[in-house]
Order: sequence, then C-alpha cells, then structure tokens
Amino acid sequence: MCMTDEALFWRDALSAHWPIGDAWQTLAGEFDLNFRDEHRVYKVMRADCDDALVGLQVDLLAHLAGSHALIPKLVPTQTGASIQRINDADGKARLCWSISALHGELLVHSSPVDIGLSREIGAAIARLHRALDGFAHPMLQRKIKWDLREVLSVRDASRRYATHPLRDTLDKIFSQQTKDALSALSSLSSQAIHNDLNDHNLLCRADALGPLQLTGIIDFGDAIEAPRIVDLAIAAAYLVLNTQRPFEQLFALVAGYTSVIPLDDTEVGLVWPLLLTRLAQSAVNAWDSAGDANDDYLQVSQAPITDFLATHGDTMPAFVEAGLRRSAGRPPAHQAAREWVAANAHTAFPIFNRSLAEAPVLDLWVAGDDTTDNPVTPDLDQLTKRLLDLAPEDQPVLGKYREARLVYGAPFYLSGDHGATDRRTIHIAIDVFLPAGTTVYAPLDAVVHSAEVCDAEFDYGGLVVLKHTPAEDVTFYTLYGHLTHASAATLSEGQAIKRGEPFAQLGPWAQNGGWPPHVHFQLGMTDAPGSAWPGVVDPDLLDDWQTVFPDPAALLGVADSETTGAEPEPGATHDSRVQHSPPSLRLSYEQPLQIVRGWKSLLFDERGRTYLDAYNNVPHVGHSHPRVRAAVERQLRFINTNTRYLQPIHAAYTEALCARLPAPLSVCFLLSSGSEANELALRLARAHTGSNETIALKAGYHGHTVTTIEISDYKFSGPGGEGAPDWVHIVNNPDTYRFDAPDDNAGAFFAEEVASVIATLAQDSRHPGCFIAETFPSVGGQVVPPRDYLHHVYRHVRAAGGICIADEVQTGLGRLGEYFWGFEHQNVTPDIVVLGKPIGNGYPLAAVITTPEIAASFDTGMEFFATFGGASAACAAGLEVLSIIDDEQLAERAANVGHQLLHGLRSLASAHPVLADVRGEGLFIGVECADADKRPLPEVTRYIVNRLRDRRVLIGSDGPHHNVLKIRPPLAFTAEDAAHFLYSLSTVLSESALQTYR
Ligand code: PMP
Repeated sequence: MCMTDEALFWRDALSAHWPIGDAWQTLAGEFDLNFRDEHRVYKVMRADCDDALVGLQVDLLAHLAGSHALIPKLVPTQTGASIQRINDADGKARLCWSISALHGELLVHSSPVDIGLSREIGAAIARLHRALDGFAHPMLQRKIKWDLREVLSVRDASRRYATHPLRDTLDKIFSQQTKDALSALSSLSSQAIHNDLNDHNLLCRADALGPLQLTGIIDFGDAIEAPRIVDLAIAAAYLVLNTQRPFEQLFALVAGYTSVIPLDDTEVGLVWPLLLTRLAQSAVNAWDSAGDANDDYLQVSQAPITDFLATHGDTMPAFVEAGLRRSAGRPPAHQAAREWVAANAHTAFPIFNRSLAEAPVLDLWVAGDDTTDNPVTPDLDQLTKRLLDLAPEDQPVLGKYREARLVYGAPFYLSGDHGATDRRTIHIAIDVFLPAGTTVYAPLDAVVHSAEVCDAEFDYGGLVVLKHTPAEDVTFYTLYGHLTHASAATLSEGQAIKRGEPFAQLGPWAQNGGWPPHVHFQLGMTDAPGSAWPGVVDPDLLDDWQTVFPDPAALLGVADSETTGAEPEPGATHDSRVQHSPPSLRLSYEQPLQIVRGWKSLLFDERGRTYLDAYNNVPHVGHSHPRVRAAVERQLRFINTNTRYLQPIHAAYTEALCARLPAPLSVCFLLSSGSEANELALRLARAHTGSNETIALKAGYHGHTVTTIEISDYKFSGPGGEGAPDWVHIVNNPDTYRFDAPDDNAGAFFAEEVASVIATLAQDSRHPGCFIAETFPSVGGQVVPPRDYLHHVYRHVRAAGGICIADEVQTGLGRLGEYFWGFEHQNVTPDIVVLGKPIGNGYPLAAVITTPEIAASFDTGMEFFATFGGASAACAAGLEVLSIIDDEQLAERAANVGHQLLHGLRSLASAHPVLADVRGEGLFIGVECADADKRPLPEVTRYIVNRLRDRRVLIGSDGPHHNVLKIRPPLAFTAEDAAHFLYSLSTVLSESALQTYR
C-alpha cells in the first residue's frame, strides 16, 4: 500500500506516545487528520484547534465510558495523558489524542440499509441521549456552523444561488414552515447531543450474510447543547439518502427512537422540517466551499442530497407527519375532523344531486373484472366500453377507494429504476362516472381552497379543492378532479360556496386528462393545493396515505363495504395453503410472493407491485400473451374435446410441430405435462428395444411420476430420495467447470463414461434400452454441454441397440437463440424428443415426437389415450405459440438479449469473483457461485436470489450444490429488462455482506 509522507510522519511522531500497530491508514476528515491502526484511531487536530474543543470530546467520552456499547473509549498515552501536543512537519504544535477503533464500515459505504438497521440506529441514538443527559461543558454552548438553529443564515447564504436547479425546493424548505419549526424548537429543552449523526459517523457490519448491524457512533467534535430532536433529524437526513425506500427508513428510525424515549407532538412535527433543513444546509455549505481544500469531503454527500431533494423534497408534509406520528405511537392528526366526518357525513348534500347508493361499482383491481387488458399501457377505450356494459351512459358508475390498479401507465406514476418495477397503484379516492357536463354540487358549506387546471395527459384537467370548517377546530378538504377547465377558471380562492350549491361540471375527454368523464372525489386532511394531492399512492406507504386521505364513501352516501378495495391478503392465502396443501409443496423466496397477474416479462402482486421475471420459462412468449388467450378463448367457445374425434386443430398443431423437427421425427403424441411425456417416452423405448436399462445424467430431472423419479438423480439422490433402481445407470453431467475435461475433446471425454456403462452392462448380457438427458441440464446447474457430447453418446448407445431420448422441456422452442432445439447444438437427431413447459405458454401441453418406426413398435394392440393429451384448446394454445415465436422473432431476440446478458454477467464476474462461472446459450443462463477453489457457495447464491427478489427482480437457484443462479426469462424479455437485471445484480453484489467473499 502506498502511504503518504504525512501518514508516515505522523505514524513516527505518534509512536513516541502510543504503541502503534502495523496496519496504518489515513481516514477521511473535514479539518483534522485521522489515522488508524488495528486497535486505535489517532486524531491530529488542525494547527489552530482550540484546546477546549478537544477537552470537550475527551470529557464527553470519559462521561460516556462504559455506559454505551457503541461509543469508542479514550486511549491515554503511555504516560497516562488524554491529550498529547506534538509538533507537525512545519513545527506547529498539534493536539493529538486516541480512541479505541470500533469494528465495522462507515454507514455511507454500507448497504443495504434496511428497516431493522434504521430502527436500531434510532434506538441507539435514544440510548446515547440517555447517557449524555446531565453532561455539561462550557464548549457545548459555542456557536457552530452546523447548528440547525442557525438555518436562517443558511437561507440567506443560499440566496446567492438564485438560478440553481434546487432553488424552488430550497425556497419551500426555508419557508414559513421552517420558521415555525425553529420557533417550536426553541420551546424544547436542551441537553448535550452529538449534533452530527451523519452516515460518516455511524459504523455498521454484516455478519454471515445477515443484515447490517450498528457497531459504532463516532466523532463527537460537533457536540452542542440543543434539543434532542436535532440529533434524530440529522441522522434521518442521511439515512434517507441512497435508499430505494426513504420513508420506510425514516419511520423505522423514529419507531426505534421512541422504543427508548417517547417523542411529544412538537418533536414529531419537527423531524421532517429539520431533516429537509439539514439537507439544504449541507447543500448550501457545499456550494459555498466548492473549490476549498476540504471540498472532496464536503462534496461526497452532494449527489444523493440533490437527488433526494429533487425527488422527495416536495413530498406532502401531511403524509410524512402521518407516518412519523404512527411510528412514534402518537394518534393521527386532525382527529376532530375525522370524528366530525364519521358523525355527520350523512348530512352532506349529494354531489350530483342524486343518490349514488345503487350505482354499480367497477372492479379495477390489478386482476379485477373491469381492468384493462394491458397493465403497462392501458387502453382507456376498453375502460369506456366496460362502463357502458355496467350502466347506460347517463347513469352513475362508481370506482373504488383504496383499490390497487394497473390502469395508471403515465411516466409520473412510475418511480423505480426500471420502467415498471416501482409505480403508484392505489387509488385513494372514489370515482363517479357520469357524462361530461354533469353538474357537481357542494356537499357542505365550503370555501374554494384551490382551483387549477392540470393539463398533462392522464392528469386531472380542471381541479378544485373545497375547504370545510363545519365547527370550531374542525377543518377538512374535498377534492374534485377531471372537471371542465372553465369550472376551475371561474372559481377563485376563498370564494364561499353553500352546501348544495352547483359549482363545477365534469370535464369532457379533451379537458380531463384523457379519461372517460368522471369526478375523482377525494377527502383530505391536508391544506396542500389540489395539484399537490396524489390521487394514486405507493402501495407500500398505503397506511399513512390513508390517514391523510380517509375513505370518502360516507360523504357520497355510498356503502364503504361496496366501494372500498380489498385485495386477497397474502397472509390469509398462506394460512389457507398451510391448511389445505401438502407441506412438500414449497414456496420460493424467504419473503414469498403472491402473484395475481403477468404481462410479457413482468409479474404483479396483489397491490400491483411489479416484478421483473427473469426466471419463468413456461410463459415462453410472455405472460398473458393476448394472442394465446384469444386462441384458447376462441377454441373454448366452440369445442374442447379429445383425440377420439377427428379435430382440425389437433391435425394443424401436430403437423406444425413436426414440421419444425428434422426427419424422421414425424409422429407426435400429445400430453399435458413433461412428466407424463417422459413417462411415455420410456414406454416407447422399452417397446422398441425390449430393454428397460436406462442411462441418465447425474443431477438430471425428468418429472415427478413414479418412473420419472426413478430416472431423476436430482430427486432420488436428493432429500427423501431412495437411490437409483438397478435398471438406472447414472453418468456424470458434461460439466466442463466441475470436471477437468480436455479442451479439444471434451464431448468425447464425457461420452466415454456412457461407453463404459454400456460395457459393464454387456458383461452381464444386458444392453441399454435408452439414454435420456436434458439436452442442456437445467436443475443440474444450467450446464452447457461441450459440442458433440451427444453426438458421441448417441453413437455409443445406438451401437449397443439403445435409442436416444432428448428431454427438450427446458431448451426447446428457440430459447437457445441460435438453436431452435438444444440437440442442434450437439449435431444430433434424437430418436425421441420430449417437449413440455413452454409449448402451451402455460396452457398444460406436452409432446413426445418420434419416428414412425418407434411409433409402430409401440402399437402393440393396446390403445394409447390421454384424456387431456391433444385436447382442442391445448392444441390451439400450442399452435399460436409457434406462430408468435415466428411473428415476434423471439428466437432472434433470445440470441441478442442472451448475448447482452452473458456479456454483462461476464463483466460483473470479473469484478466479483463469487460469480465463478458464467455460462449459457440464448436465454438459458447459469452463474455458478463458488470460491477461488471452486468450493460451492450456496449461501451466497441464496443471498443473491433473495436480495434480487427484494429489489423486485426474480431469478432462481439450482444445481447439485444449490449454487447456480438460474436465469431463464420469458423470451419477451427486452434489452431494457436485461439492463435492469444487470444493474440490480451489480447493486446486490456490491452489498456489504458479500464483501468478505471478494
Ligand atoms: N423434464 C424437465 C427437463 C423439466 O425441467 C421438467 C419440469 N421442471 C419436467 C421434465 C417435468 O415436467 P412437468 O412438471 O410438466 O411434469
């Protein structure tokens, strides 16, 4: 390691007073020099440092000694002094002191910061406050620039940056609200506080792939006497940076704090304004000092601060307050208004001067009857048609409150890194659909609070908020969206409107943001203007948004049991499953998912949260492909029957399927599952060869029936397995990562094992009936066999009288990109090909395709019949899948996107050696996690899979050692999906827990 002259100088100088260890390094600092060895941190204060400032820190640490586990201890010099004066290279005296080094990494360099860590930090701050209570020191009264109470001078300083992009946000932050906050702050009592609990002053560590834990609180150099809430707000200000879920972290921090020290309403109300103030203060200080020597240190937090202020600086304060109050165990604000509405809503004038009680209610839930077919780019004409189905045009139709919907596709509903993985979905108002021009009446006496025109597509058009103050201390608001522009233009703020007075009209399509005419009626406990009210909110923050925007059903005179959305609750689904499904039926992921909808490469849970599917190969042409659905629907409309009748659709499908296969594979049996198909393939082989001796691969999987389990090493050698029967002979997987095979002849090398099994059988006068293998072993670890492996194997098997079965359940139908079938990669034509999983795109369909000769051997007189095998609707699905693959050029896409993924994965692997082997072909990809000695790392694999799931990206894991990341998305996976997948994986690989595996 290269050490600066300064670091060398101070190592020598300090070693005269402390026993310095070998591992000497420089740490970051704003003004002072900081060094550390393996045991201690050494502080060399700036040349003009006030003795008293060091005295404060030394006294403070002495006060805390032993009372707080996370605080470093003071380490005196060899002669027992707390502080040592040492001359620097320029001969200037510097104050030097030392503290014990704590384990862990700075929070700013750690990830992921989860809710548990935030809670822990909150609780640790509260315990620190307990321990500091009663500590007094004259220096605690000094004036410092980082005192939040000095914020008005920061505001003045910020005025120099008149054209900065954050100007508006800063103005809002330094508004009246901040002044109110500061005056509230001055009413609170003070004590010694840390005053700089930023992410450079908190340490944490992840043990054994567990979550991060707090290991230290350092640097008391900014300690002052101030209200305790200042510390919490400062910690919060840095905790919300660099996280995808800032509000959950903030609320958890406050909940942690209040688990030790309760907060009163004033304190809770200060957290958000002080948090924003601190970020603004940090931004302005950094602009002020741009170009200084200390610039780097100050600039480090700037990008995330700017990002946060730009993205969340405008978040509705009433929402943040709701979350903070809930976390602090305080009752929601505006209790009197809530009670008033509950008791008096029935006195409201009907807003359309007619009863809505009997109006039909739309079901626009994620997977509701009335939602649009396309959940990403919704077709609003479809919604209009649905409305007309429910009621004549002049009759009202209602849309539900608190309903998770996928009808909001405009960019301003999306918030995640990927086009669709994070979006607002929960409608937090009630809709009433009536024709454009319908008059709207005031439900209660009111004044106009705001009247605006929000002109963007899918926005509100004319938008009015009325303020109601029906009693002293009772104020609430009602919002009316999608009005005519004239309605908003003719109203003025402060204008009084009487109960029952007409005040607006419903806007037409051209004026209401492009929606079928309706009013979006929302009840709010916030004085924000209408354009600041979200009408659709984040599903993960629903509880707090519901506090701000309660159910308005009673004000409309409708029954909330009819108009409040309630999605199937995952806990209840899970309980039912535990009760009525076998325990051997397993769920994926530590946090299982309830999936209710799919579209192309996306999956949606009950609240419309979106997941990128990089795992499921059954929805080959994409989840819920409209053409497959239409083909099956059409077929079900007329007939879905079996193969005992001549069926044109059956003929068309078998013909089309056989046309894709090389001669002499021209006879097709249809079934409904891969297991069933493999079972039949074995029967064909036995009938044709007269032998049931079967050669199969190690870690192979062919199905869950009695016989397919008996040939599936993955099952019979796994937990609960009973080993191979004597007619099954297992050879190693042709896995060039795990086995040392000669580079130029690997295929023949692995095939030799098959030859030797055959030789052993021959000694016993037995001969193989068949060889069966997944063409590219999948559960065996997404293995790409060496070229010509099967060519050599088939040669041996056929020479001994056996036939060759290719289980193409995972690899067929264009998944491999360049090869429509896996066996093409191997230069062979199998005697039997088995297909399943993707061929019906989720409709149960499987196939066995063989030669006329083998089919003839099977025709022993016994009828072959499978009730659902070859049923009309399944054939319709299969036929449509084949044409979609061609029409959408999905094999080409698999080749291109697969190439992008493999390339990206290989470059990630070069930076992260845990990705020990990256392999694949098209969209059949595996990444083996292992250490430098190829020892499998199943725990790392599990960690990556679950962390990706937390980021809403789905993959699986497999392989005999459970250490292969399994990536095999629907072929609808796009280049953008691949980029998002790679970005998400790279983020997970950079997480703290994985750094010990470097
Ligand atoms: N063969 C292979 C290679 C498979 O991957 C599977 C299913 N994972 C099967 C057969 C069995 O198919 P099914 O589950 O449809 O019975």
